[in-house]
Amino acid sequence: MLEVRELSCGYGEMTVVHALDLEVAAGRTVALIGANGAGKTSTLMALAGHLSQHHGSIRLDGEPIDALPPMQRVARGIGWVPEGRRLFPDLSVRENLVVGGYVRPRPREAANIERVVALFPRIGERLDQRAGSLSGGEQQMVALGRALMAEPRLLLVDELSLGLMPKAVGQFYAALAQLKQSGLAILLVEQNTGHALRAADDVIVLESGACVWRGTAAEARAATDLLDAYLGLSGAPAPAR
Ligand code: ATP
Repeated sequence: MLEVRELSCGYGEMTVVHALDLEVAAGRTVALIGANGAGKTSTLMALAGHLSQHHGSIRLDGEPIDALPPMQRVARGIGWVPEGRRLFPDLSVRENLVVGGYVRPRPREAANIERVVALFPRIGERLDQRAGSLSGGEQQMVALGRALMAEPRLLLVDELSLGLMPKAVGQFYAALAQLKQSGLAILLVEQNTGHALRAADDVIVLESGACVWRGTAAEARAATDLLDAYLGLSGAPAPAR
């Protein structure tokens, strides 16, 4: 599915991610974790085509996508749920979803909205409401739903749990588990290491834009001392629920 080799990317001349190797297979979840400023968001932005790639290669199902602009990457099957949601607050929930499905044929729109509503029934009750009037958790549902409208095969999810109540976080992770079950590949950026380690199959730890540890989630859970060294005690995995 996604194969990234020696990716370096950054802002203008400044490189903030250095020679990162990364693979995500269909039906797998990879968590990218690390302290503030480690380069997690920048990595997702580069994969989505929103950040300059300085070096390396990005392939989707064996095809290079490095040169493609963001919209064509969406069309190829890369969905991005950006940090901070970035909805159109004055458009309705339905209109925000429709924007996300722009790259797909119009006749599939209704079925895709239905799929989003099946995943998040609350959204179904609020389709005609202004997106800006929704709660933070509901807006996050719309942001995830908007990405799903483009029928992605790979989902890039940035800080899903940020600022949400624990119950809402649980709902989102249940939704991600369902999507993974349906065969989606998921690359997850999370500050909350506990959530990340529970949801992921594989884990990559970034520090100052470079990979300093990689392994399975089970190995990461067993290596808390090592992870603490990179993440600080506040990033220690939460006890399993
Ligand atoms: P956080 O969890 O705090 O969002 P992160 O791991 O996602 O951290 P990034 O946001 O990718 O890290 O930041 C990586 C580096 O890139 C940091 O040194 C940051 O200061 C720098 N950076 C981020 N955005 C910009 C920008 N717009 N212009 C210049 N440098 C930036």
